[in-house]
Amino acid sequence: MILERALFESYAGLEGEQLLVPILQDFADKSVVVSSFGAESAVLLHMVSQVNRATPVIFLDTGKHFWETLSYRAKLIDRLGLTGVQSLTPYAADLAAQDSDGTLHTRDPDACCHIRKTIPLARALECFEVTISGRKRYHGAARATLDFLSITDGRLKVEPLAGFSALDIAAYLKIHDLPPHPLTEIGYFSIGCEPCTQAGGTAADPRAGRWAGSAKTECGIHWSHNRKPYAAPFGTAH
Ligand code: SF4
Repeated sequence: MILERALFESYAGLEGEQLLVPILQDFADKSVVVSSFGAESAVLLHMVSQVNRATPVIFLDTGKHFWETLSYRAKLIDRLGLTGVQSLTPYAADLAAQDSDGTLHTRDPDACCHIRKTIPLARALECFEVTISGRKRYHGAARATLDFLSITDGRLKVEPLAGFSALDIAAYLKIHDLPPHPLTEIGYFSIGCEPCTQAGGTAADPRAGRWAGSAKTECGIHWSHNRKPYAAPFGTAH
């Protein structure tokens, strides 16, 4: 706890690039960025590219993304010169056991997110001590109380954009002339897998199009274990 407090105090008052730069320097080779290459992802990825273009970046390729997201991922990688992007796919054994017809998202979206996102990510994160993501408080719900720094599952979690508003994001994209995700131009404020994302949302409720009509608001990768164990019945040995 004392070590944790000292660590947090050493970065107190920092956000955005001011937080990202020392984190990537202090935890070089131990940090990984998790990105959806979604509506606002270009901001954090641009900041990362300014520090170290070889920083590992994990993209969870669920097999359910919009083709526009995959195209945008390629475009951003090229534009920003990122050389450390890794696409993680679900394990074939998990898909065969739990989602052989590809419709698990209609029956049990938490289980679908678990095998397509949580399990591959959890195993990849075992190689790192620091996880960096681009969540913002203004997205509301469970994100409204995000801390810039936290300890989750024994790993330092860094949220450099936690305090950014929709206006801050828009301004950053404009100042740095970053390309928009193509779906943002036809009304998508937040973009995840195609079956679970609708156009819509507002600056006040940007995630309204995610799992619309259900109680689900998060895929679970940012919360401990997605409320499920890594072991059986999910997470077969690989
Ligand atoms: S967002 Fe939907 S399709 Fe994607 S992993 Fe989760 S439930 Fe499955």
